Order: sequence, then structure tokens, then C-alpha cells
Amino acid sequence: MRLFLDGATIYSPGSPARRGALIANGKILAIGQKALDLFDSATDTRLDLTGKFVAPSFGDGHSHPLFAGREAAGPAVTGLTSIPEILAEIGRFADTHPADRNAGWIVGGAYEAALVPGGDFEASWIDEIVSDRPVVLHAADHHTIWVNSKALEIAGITSQMPDPDGGSIARTTSGAPKGTLREPQAMNLILAKIPTRTIDDEVDALAYASQKLLHQGVTYTNDSWVEPGMAQIYLEAYKRKVLDIDFNISFLVSPENWREESDRICKERALFDGIASINASSVKFLADGALSSGTAALLEPYDDQPEFSGIKIWEDSELFDAVAHFDALGFQAHIHAIGDRAVRQALDAIEEISTRNPKRDRRPVIVHAQLIDDVDLPRFAALGVIANMQPLWMYLDPMNKKLIAPRIGYRNDLQYRMRDMINAGVAIAYGSDWPITSESPLLALGVPVHRTEPGSVELPWQEDQAITLEESWAFYTSQIAYQNFREHEVGRLEVGMRADFIILNQNPFSMNPRDIHKTEIEAVYKAGVPAI
Ligand SMILES: [Zn+2]
Repeated sequence: MRLFLDGATIYSPGSPARRGALIANGKILAIGQKALDLFDSATDTRLDLTGKFVAPSFGDGHSHPLFAGREAAGPAVTGLTSIPEILAEIGRFADTHPADRNAGWIVGGAYEAALVPGGDFEASWIDEIVSDRPVVLHAADHHTIWVNSKALEIAGITSQMPDPDGGSIARTTSGAPKGTLREPQAMNLILAKIPTRTIDDEVDALAYASQKLLHQGVTYTNDSWVEPGMAQIYLEAYKRKVLDIDFNISFLVSPENWREESDRICKERALFDGIASINASSVKFLADGALSSGTAALLEPYDDQPEFSGIKIWEDSELFDAVAHFDALGFQAHIHAIGDRAVRQALDAIEEISTRNPKRDRRPVIVHAQLIDDVDLPRFAALGVIANMQPLWMYLDPMNKKLIAPRIGYRNDLQYRMRDMINAGVAIAYGSDWPITSESPLLALGVPVHRTEPGSVELPWQEDQAITLEESWAFYTSQIAYQNFREHEVGRLEVGMRADFIILNQNPFSMNPRDIHKTEIEAVYKAGVPAI
């Protein structure tokens, strides 16, 4: 049976808008006048979409769906704007979730770290609400956790314990842990103590995440932080048929474990052979931390710590060896680099692999790339690197104002040089980084265009770096398909491509870009079939 999308504006990045499309066998058979010519009213199903807007479904080039699903099962503190509100939510959750599950652990997120100057939250605040069970909350940057005294006690964190390499424990003047820990090396002192969740809980978390993304019009996403045990959750969720979107998963490696983890990662990649909807051919490297926690690696020292330029997680030679090793095994590199020194190191590593390993279509990804030195800007295009950027971060939000600007001064305004990047020929794709920020593409798409908070009337932040809505839309569709080596299949609506599309109630290109998030998704189709 064929489906005729009658009267709708058909939008596809790089093509002029057309009217109407004909779909057969899950693919696009014809668009515009050709579709109308082929339409057979006797046998085809006609959908009257007059006034509607049809666009390719979105991808998401960098997100953490399993973490988002797990977080959603804890206290709902995302978006709360005061400490008392957060504490009240922890109390409500504790009252309604008895202590006999998960050994009583309460784990959730993501709180706004900018609520406290400097971002140090104290264990004693939670203790007043819950003191008999361990509580762990992730901050919105997900490079920081806030815990109560019970959690510190279980992990054995005292004033005597030194900071682990690459991580930090916030302390009082006497050296006692305050209750805030930064970077995975320190966070893991606590997170490693949390009991393993049941496979049913884990599959539920993935099912939740997949539905959530689908309802925002996202039909394929990257999971950019896959630890040991997580690939098996994907496989189980696939077998139980609860995944409604496609996934591309990135195995996380560290300087300490990449050599010994290599065999396991290759075996886990093979688990997905023959499964078209899950790809497992990417490896994630963390080159540095985050600007908000003062751990991103910078070329010049932090303004508030003149002796300190952030943390480079890898020695150069170790990163080069690791990236080259997995590249030779056919994996795509997905390198987290936020500060300009980390971005340079990531580019150096990618340059190195192209000299060590045979030429091939490798499409390495540097994710975040918030600060790029002028010297390094042309290297992205020269090395074929995809910059995966987070559109919803491109306005002056509370984190920038309160936590980042005091740390990096004038460099705060040099973040997200989108116009410069486009001019330098950088291949850009978007990622939400959900649950760090919202998973909604429609909320985020307009931000790089107007450089303000969605819906606000404030003046743009660094307006000269603003881009067009057409550019922004491509970065959330065709460019993510490109990042995932799927540009001939999804991300555009052209003849022969899979009929993955969304139907919007109005044309966002005829709206004020600040209001695009008010558009409504009326339907999401996957392979020509309604998915919601
Ligand atoms: Zn991320």
C-alpha cells in the first residue's frame, strides 16, 4: 500500500521546499509534481496535510539515553530553581520509595550547580531530609555529584583520603569532604558502591529513553558513554522489542584500561552483527573535563587559578596509541574535548592516525569543541573531523554566567564559534547531550540562530556567530546521518531514502526563530509507518 502526503510542504536540507510526497515500501517513491502524477486515488492512501510541514526525522549525534532513563527513575530535580525545592523533592521520593529496593540508595539528577556560588553543595543539607540512606544526585553538567553523609561514609571518604588523580573532592578549610565530588575519577569512589540494577530496571530505563526521544521526533541516536555491561542491556532491550528508535553506541575507554578492554569491546561489537537498528562501532575518549567545574584543559590558565590550566586526562602519546589502535580495528573515534588545549590534543591524535593507519573513510568526531584556537580551526576540515556541537548551550545561560565566566574571563564569549566554523568548512553535527540538557531538537534548533534562551526577548550572545535556520536544521538531520555513515538512508527526504519523517503543525521557517519550540509534532513516521 502506498501513502500520499497531500498538500504538505516537504522540507529536506539542501533542496528547495516541494509540495506532496508518495511513499511505498517504507521509502520515498516521489516528491512534488512527480508524486502527484503517480498518485492513484483508487489504490493509494491519501493523507490530507494541507498547511502542514514535513521534515526528516531528527537524529541525535551525542546523548546518554540509558543514563537519562536511570535518572528519570530517581528524584525529579531537573529544572528546580532553589535548594529547598530540591530537598523537598528528595524527601518526597524517599517517602514514596521504600528502602528495600537497591539497598536503599537514592540516585537521581540533574540539579543546577549554579544555584550555589562556586558549585559546592553540602552533604549536611541532604542529611536534614535523609540521613539513614545514601543519596547521590548528579549535577546538570554530569561531571559533578552531590551526596549526603551516608554516601560519604559508605565510600569511606574522610579528610584523610587524598583526591584521586584527575578528580577532586570539595573540602572545608579543615579538609573534611563537603559533599561535592568532581570528575569520574572522584565520582566513582561513590558511584562504584551503588548496587547493580536489575536487568528489568535497566531495560525499562532504555525503553523510557527510546520513547522519550521518539516523541521529540528523534528516530536514531548515539549513546556516547557505554561502560562494561551496558551493551548487554542494549541487546536485551532489542530482544524484548522495546527499542523504538535506532542506536549507535560508543564504548568508553580510559588511559588505565584501553589495552585490556580492547578484546571485550571487539566481542561486544560483534553481538550486534546482523542487527540493523543498533551499531556498535565507535569508541569514546574523554580528553578533558568541563569548564563549569574548572577541569577543561585550556591553553592559558584559568582566571581564578592562575597556576592551573585544567586536566588533560590522557598523555599525548597514550591517546595517540589508543585512538590509532581502535581506528585500526575499524572503530570510529568519538573524542570529548571542551577546552582549546584538549581540542588541539584531539586533533593531534586524529592527525597521527592518518599517518599511522591506511587511508579510509573514518569520520572522527570531536564532541563539544567549545573553545577552538584560531590555529586549530582549519585543521577540522583538513583532517575530515566532525564537530559535534550542542545547540541548546549556545546562549548565555546561568552556568555560563555564574560558573564559567568567572573561571575563564573573556574566553567565555569565544565559545561556540559556529559562524567561524562554517566559514572554515568544518563538518558540524548536533547532539543534545541528554540528560545534561533537553532531548528536544525543536527546543534547541533556534538557539544557534538567535543565540538567546528559547522564547526570550533578550539580546543575542555573540550575534556575529549566529547561523541560519537552514544550517541549524541540517546539523540536526542530514549531518547526523553523515556522522553515522547513514547519509544515503536517513536525514533527508529524497527519492529512495527511508521514509523517516515528522509532521509539524506549521512551517517553522515562517516563524520567529525564537518561537520555533512552540511548533507541535503531530506525527513521527519510521520507514513510512506511524511510530507515535
Ligand atoms: Zn556527553
